[in-house]
Amino acid sequence: MLSPLQRPSPVMRDSPTPAVYLRLRDDLIATPRTWLITGVAGFVGSSLLEGLLDLGQQVVGLDNLSTGSRDNIDDVLQGRSGGAFRFVEGDIRSLDDCREAIAGVDVVLHQAALPSVPMSIDDPLASHAVNVGGFLNVLSAARDANARVVYASSSAVYGEASLVPVSEDRVGEALSPYAADKRTDEIYAQVWGRQYGLQTIGLRYFNVFGRRQDPNGAYAAVIPRWVEALLRDEPCYVYGDGETTRDFCHVSDVVQANLLAAVAADSAVGEVYNVGCGTETSLNELFRMIRLGLAGHEAELSSHEPVYEAFRPGDIRRSVADISKARRRLGFEPQMTVAEGLGEALEWYVAQARETEVNPR
Ligand code: NAD
Repeated sequence: MLSPLQRPSPVMRDSPTPAVYLRLRDDLIATPRTWLITGVAGFVGSSLLEGLLDLGQQVVGLDNLSTGSRDNIDDVLQGRSGGAFRFVEGDIRSLDDCREAIAGVDVVLHQAALPSVPMSIDDPLASHAVNVGGFLNVLSAARDANARVVYASSSAVYGEASLVPVSEDRVGEALSPYAADKRTDEIYAQVWGRQYGLQTIGLRYFNVFGRRQDPNGAYAAVIPRWVEALLRDEPCYVYGDGETTRDFCHVSDVVQANLLAAVAADSAVGEVYNVGCGTETSLNELFRMIRLGLAGHEAELSSHEPVYEAFRPGDIRRSVADISKARRRLGFEPQMTVAEGLGEALEWYVAQARETEVNPR
């Protein structure tokens, strides 16, 4: 029998993998390339590694293991024989480390960052040093190596948008140092294109979720934080009234967007693109979906209620992506609805929790 999260819902898509993406995957298998993933030990970086190794690609990974972990890389490498992987433990704040990692690379998928709004409010200088200073090192090393750079920007650049869904040409006022860093990166990427001919594409990720997203620490994202809290029978905190909305995008769709950008025509280069699902989900709806999904594993969770706390500074009220530009120019077509993506992610978190029960860390 299908679990509630696997049952078709009104928002569930049943779309086959788009032809553009299928062709791209075939082309990569036929003609493998060499890639650098910065932030490879993180949530998105390790998912990109998994996707590329499955296509038989050569991959170099750079990470200083600050917010990421070796476990993420080991999890991907386990039992996988396709492709080849070299890990450079290093820091994007060092130009030498970036140069060492980038030698011989065709495409850089830049993910390394201090990736949190609250973290950047607590320590704006550290955020800037990694998110802007480190990014400039990656651009410089890529220019010298003649590699294309596809980099992670963020929906945070939209600030509090007066109109949703947000489209790429309507950047709002930055509400946090993190948003300012990501917007600055986009400006630098355009300058590196104009001045030095570097090929860059920026991807403004909305709220990415999926397996291996870290549930621990003060800066954990909402989905893993709530899943972990529910599984431990601890309170789930909602900041605000729960009617704050987000566009939750499964990480497999972020992988798709990165690969499409990596091979996109030159006419698509030098631009930024929204990467989201294109649907708005409130935190209250999200909580109910997670609770329903977990209740399939632990029945007593079905009565759990969230605890409402004050709004956090720098938080945006509504956020949803207009993805028409990415559709048109990159051939991007999200494959996972929030419900489908949650089904996959929750299975993983539950399996991890059971594993920890058997083998406590
Ligand atoms: P993550 O924390 O899981 O991954 C970031 C990785 O970068 C980690 O492995 C970390 O160790 C590494 N790193 C940090 N500082 C470094 C440094 N100085 N040198 C080398 N490596 C360093 O975060 P994520 O969620 O995978 O985010 C990936 C990218 O996507 C980030 O650029 C983030 O800003 C962006 N983004 C993420 C989301 C999201 O919802 N996850 C949304 C918008 C944008």
